[in-house]
Amino acid sequence: MGIYDTVHFPQPLTCTACQARITSTQTKAFENILGDFRIGDCIGHAEELRIVREGLYCNACRTLNQQSVYFVVYRGILTDIAHDLAEAERHLRSFSFERLLLWYHDQYAKRIRERARRHEVERFLRDTHEWFTKGFDQHHPEESSFRSLIFLHNRDILEQSATPLEAIQAFLQQREEADRQREQNTHPASLPQPNGE
Ligand SMILES: [Zn+2]
Repeated sequence: MGIYDTVHFPQPLTCTACQARITSTQTKAFENILGDFRIGDCIGHAEELRIVREGLYCNACRTLNQQSVYFVVYRGILTDIAHDLAEAERHLRSFSFERLLLWYHDQYAKRIRERARRHEVERFLRDTHEWFTKGFDQHHPEESSFRSLIFLHNRDILEQSATPLEAIQAFLQQREEADRQREQNTHPASLPQPNGE
C-alpha cells in the first residue's frame, strides 16, 4: 500500500457522476507522510512553484478520475486549489507578495501551536512515568498534597487512572475533546446556521 497525503478542500466539490460531496483528495505529489493539508499549509521547499493536477475519487459512487483539481504551489505553500489549468495558472501568475507574507504569519502561528501540543505530550509522558515509577498511584491524596504542584497539568487524569494505560486513554480522550471544541470555535461556519448567514 502506498503512502500519500490528503488535501482538504475549502469548499466541498460535487461529483459530476452522482452529485455527492467530495471534501478531499489523496495525492502523492507532496511529501507522502500521511499528512493532512489545507490551503495555506507549507508542503515543500521555498523554491517550489508548480501546479499539480490530481484526479478526484468519489467515495459514494466509486468513480475515479472523472474530474480533476489543480493544486497551486507558490514558494512551497499550497496557495490555491483550482478547477482547471487556466485558473491555476492565473492564480500562480497573480500571486502577491503581501499575501505570501500573510501565509508566513499563519505558518508561524501554526508552528507555535504545534510546539505547544508536542510539549503537552512530552509533559504527560514524563508525569505518567514519574507517577507510576515513584508510587504516587499507591498514596492517598492527603498523604502527598505536594503532588498537586508537580503534576499540575495531568494530576486529574493520573488520580483517576489505576494504570499507565488508563492514563494514556484518558489523555487521548481529553485531547480529542479539546480538538473538537477548538475546531468548532475556529470554523463556526460548519455548524448549522439557522439564518443562512
Ligand atoms: Zn460520485
